[in-house]
Amino acid sequence: MRRPVIAGNWKMFKTAQEARDLVTTLIPLVENNTEVDVVVAPVFTVLGAVKPILEGTTVKLSAQDCFWEEEGAFTGEISPKFLVDAGCTHVIIGHSERRQYFFETNETVNKKLKAALSARLTPLFCLGETLEQRENGSTFDIIRQQLSEGLTGITGDAIGAVVIAYEPVWAIGTGKTASDEQAQEVHSFIRKYLSDTYGKNIADSTRILYGGSVKPDNVRGLMSQPDIDGALVGGASLKADSFAAIVNYGA
Ligand code: PEP
Repeated sequence: MRRPVIAGNWKMFKTAQEARDLVTTLIPLVENNTEVDVVVAPVFTVLGAVKPILEGTTVKLSAQDCFWEEEGAFTGEISPKFLVDAGCTHVIIGHSERRQYFFETNETVNKKLKAALSARLTPLFCLGETLEQRENGSTFDIIRQQLSEGLTGITGDAIGAVVIAYEPVWAIGTGKTASDEQAQEVHSFIRKYLSDTYGKNIADSTRILYGGSVKPDNVRGLMSQPDIDGALVGGASLKADSFAAIVNYGA
């Protein structure tokens, strides 16, 4: 039985005070939910403001990106070691906005995944096709390539520590969500890839989240699909009541 994960990607929103207010309101709304792992991902500068409020609660702290080198002359970068030091347990890697605006490739995503795993962070490994790729029929080729290149050199044991987030690019921040069936079709493809590559045990235990305009009114249908194990939520994670309603989808 895979334990669901609901993660909120705050993107470049929420100052320190806004973030403190958000988690202070959120915690009482989700703390009785023992069925779901809840994660929030503020901007780097706000991690330290949120961490003391999350301490002793079930809500986990994530960063939105990391660099692959541990330390050195890499001005502006932040490695997993510093994220652990800041209290993170999770890190988002390969988000489509980073692939699109910051030229991340499957190769850099792979280096970041390895660095995160070495530091014992749980990576939320994002992948997904663009609208053009969906329309030209290459969705499954793209997903297979993102998986094989993104996970190159990561062995079976470590794969179990990775959480995969399927996020069709055309559904992120657009209000268009994949239908339950469209999402399930890709999730099932990802699980089969994991099974063929790493074996059934790993495939059965790896959590695969869906991301792309998840809201309180569509989360239940998505979560009822057999291969959807949670959600990576952008816009709807910026308000405590909508994020809590997503976390508490099963209530
Ligand atoms: C995201 O940022 O990963 C995301 C899925 O955003 P939204 O929920 O706003 O589409």
